Amino acid sequence: MSEEFRFDTRAVRAGTQRSTFNEHSEALFLTSSFVFKSAAEAAGMFAGSEDGFVYSRFSNPTVRMFEQRLAALEGAQDGLATASGMAAILSTALAAVKTGDHIVCSASVFGATVQLFSTILGRFGVDTTYVRGADPAAWRAAITPRTRLLFCETPSNPLMEIVDLAALAALGRESGALTVVDNCFCTPVMQRPFDFGVDVVIHSGTKYLDGQGRVLGGAVLGKRDFIRNALLPILRSAGPCLSPFNAWVLLKGLETLGVRLRAQSAAALELARWLETQPGVSRVFFTGLESHPQAALARLQQRGPGAVLTFELAGDSAEAQRARAWRVIDAVQLMSITANLGDTRTTITHPSSTTHGRLTPEARAQAGITEGLVRIAVGLEDVADLQADLARALVA
Ligand SMILES: *Cc1c(COP(=O)(O)O)cnc(C)c1O
Repeated sequence: MSEEFRFDTRAVRAGTQRSTFNEHSEALFLTSSFVFKSAAEAAGMFAGSEDGFVYSRFSNPTVRMFEQRLAALEGAQDGLATASGMAAILSTALAAVKTGDHIVCSASVFGATVQLFSTILGRFGVDTTYVRGADPAAWRAAITPRTRLLFCETPSNPLMEIVDLAALAALGRESGALTVVDNCFCTPVMQRPFDFGVDVVIHSGTKYLDGQGRVLGGAVLGKRDFIRNALLPILRSAGPCLSPFNAWVLLKGLETLGVRLRAQSAAALELARWLETQPGVSRVFFTGLESHPQAALARLQQRGPGAVLTFELAGDSAEAQRARAWRVIDAVQLMSITANLGDTRTTITHPSSTTHGRLTPEARAQAGITEGLVRIAVGLEDVADLQADLARALVA
């Protein structure tokens, strides 16, 4: 479906293909393989000279509908779905790097991404340098003649630092490295990295695309040549493919992505502004606040702030800060204590002892992850109830 339709229309309609039964809602094709009319047709499809579905490891109609709908939302030429967000990142890395190559990555990315790049790809002779994503000079300084991949998440988790995507894309073109953005936090509702010239967008469908905490899934979006000729052979032979069932759940999730994220983001902004006025809260990290150090870049690059916010509780020492943060987390009654995000249910977590708990204390300090930080991923409950829950917890 072309760009002539607006975002919410594409979210509901793009990619739909009907079978001969003319079903209105997208069909779930739970089949591992497809039948050919003849030996010649089978041969043609295996050779790629004939179009059609062959085997669900690399082609399934329900999965294809999800890929095309998400590509239409991101403004991508094409996309491929994967079993999870990590499968999307692994497949992209396998398509982009080989032994001896180098990756530059923003420091505050999802923990499993660091494990994948440093520990797993490191075993194959690929090395990774981590830079402060918000510092374009640091990206430039880290690039070497061996650099093949520039990878970032923006805004960062949990401190909401923003990577300048136009600057990153320019560095990628200059150095010949593939630029990849993990767009999990903002989703295409709030941020379209292709508008700024990056090469590839990654999604964990597990978060906002499903939006209801049901399935794992992922996707890689980009230019048709990269998707078909570099990425598809990896998915086809390595097999980190998305189940048709999960694709069907994600298709349904995409239909409400715009309304969900706009509502969750508005509630997050209300909570962030209120938290800024609360005694004992030393800082609030949220790209929608005027106090955000990169507020101008946020307005330029994002269509909204998303729905994840972090605040810091004051304390005389790291121990006092941690005790205060844990007390607040233990005192909420409505919010779920879990590190997951992107759900209709609001979640609350203590980054320094969970998502960032495996970092050394020095690395945490360097990244600015203090013991007083609390991260909230705002869901779809009534914001007045969320505020009351936090108000009660803050005085606990
Ligand atoms: C959750 C997450 C991932 C990994 O996604 P899975 O679907 O859990 O594999 C990658 N990046 C970000 C930013 C995430 O939040």
